[in-house]
Amino acid sequence: MQASRLAPGFKTSPWWWEAAEPPQRDNTLPDRAAVVVVGGGYAGLSAALTLRRLGQEVVVLDAERIGWGASSRNGGMVSGGLKVAASGLDKVYGAEKARAIVDTAAASFPFIEETITREAIDCDYVRCGRYAAAWSKSHYDTLARRCETIADITGLPARMLPRARQREALGSDHYFGGMLADATGSLHPGKYARGLAAAAERAGAVLVDAVRVQKIRDEAGGYRIATDKGEIRSDAVLVTTNGYSLNPKGTALPWLARRLVPLNSYIIATEELGEAKIEQLFPGRRMISDSKRVLNYFRPSPDGKRILWGGRASFRAATAEDTAPALHGYMTECFPELRDVKITHAWTGFVAFTFDHLPHIGVQDGIHYAAGCQGSGVAMATWLGHNAALKLSGHANDRFALDGLPFPTRPFYSGDPGWFLPIIGGWYRLRDRLDRMAA
Ligand SMILES: Cc1cc2nc3c(=O)[nH]c(=O)nc-3n(C[C@H](O)[C@H](O)[C@H](O)COP(=O)(O)OP(=O)(O)OC[C@H]3O[C@@H](n4cnc5c(N)ncnc54)[C@H](O)[C@@H]3O)c2cc1C
Repeated sequence: MQASRLAPGFKTSPWWWEAAEPPQRDNTLPDRAAVVVVGGGYAGLSAALTLRRLGQEVVVLDAERIGWGASSRNGGMVSGGLKVAASGLDKVYGAEKARAIVDTAAASFPFIEETITREAIDCDYVRCGRYAAAWSKSHYDTLARRCETIADITGLPARMLPRARQREALGSDHYFGGMLADATGSLHPGKYARGLAAAAERAGAVLVDAVRVQKIRDEAGGYRIATDKGEIRSDAVLVTTNGYSLNPKGTALPWLARRLVPLNSYIIATEELGEAKIEQLFPGRRMISDSKRVLNYFRPSPDGKRILWGGRASFRAATAEDTAPALHGYMTECFPELRDVKITHAWTGFVAFTFDHLPHIGVQDGIHYAAGCQGSGVAMATWLGHNAALKLSGHANDRFALDGLPFPTRPFYSGDPGWFLPIIGGWYRLRDRLDRMAA
């Protein structure tokens, strides 16, 4: 990367970790627990909290550190299933079931707000709203068709902003107008992960890091879980490994890995620009995403001083540092005046897509799972974990329509999308270019 774009002291760790790096815990692996949760992100922690509230003894294991995965690396945009609302479910499930799925997804938004309030999680949460910027005229028309549905599903206003008024939401003329949706908040993901972990610990959950689960075996009356630090036995297991499910050092639930498509998402943080500049570029300090197939998502930092710009900068195995110039380029296409602004941090993490574009909870061979948030999992993973915990402890809510849906995979797919991602990514980029040319 051009050295001039990198600020002195440039780091390849998340900017969020400056304030809330996932801490190391020195808990040792117990011999047994009533419930073992594999994966210490939002889903696993939320599940642990609910299980403790229901009186279950629970141990959460993470191969790295609690909160180390996507849960301390994401953009901190909190939305309630707006992607699910856009996924054309009627054709597959019929109108009634489709509506139940969409309502279930949308319920993740009030749930995370309640969780943050109830547990007094200090994570800079603000219900700021989102601006979904249209990449082309036809994308604007598509957003306009969805606008009413989104307001109906979320119960909160959504309205279109034509291009001539775009600067009310975004200090740029780069897009063709867009949609303002109130049902979105912003938070500091590292602080949220830390706060959720603290809430689970306060409730009595045991959180153990640096333990990689390698195999889960069914044995009479429970499970024997082999890890790189020895064995633990349990009555029940919940796997919440999401985008990190497949790993050569040990995959907790290969069946789940074959149903998830892990994809790197990348973010850069700029140097401080000053609050006046941020106010000009982000009036209202909303979360912003665009309608490209290979999307950009960007926001001011919670302290209102710098920009965090994210996107799918590469569909090949690429480091955060390699992809930083591309993200900087996308940022300056939108904000040309930031050409000389330097990057202080660049990082990446794995999101998990599914072949049916839906999040899932369910049970396979007696093992519970919660996964597949399609890159929008701050609220959703919290919600999935909670509902997986209710199900596991026999308190399942029949209205939770993401439970037990058919969970497709593809023939010969092992969980590693390495060979087909560059092809799909190239095709999506081409279609984005064609849409823009047509506009
Ligand atoms: C760069 C980026 C930007 C994003 N931006 C947003 C956003 O703005 N808004 C939004 O809603 N969502 C966003 N997301 C998605 C969101 O962060 C995730 O959906 C959510 O954090 C998933 O939480 P999780 O608990 O399911 O998984 P994770 O937080 O990924 O946790 C999985 C954990 O499992 C552990 N693990 C894996 N295998 C094993 C094993 N065998 N044994 C033990 N532990 C194991 C891993 O170490 C990891 O800590 C983003 C994601 C990324 C990466």
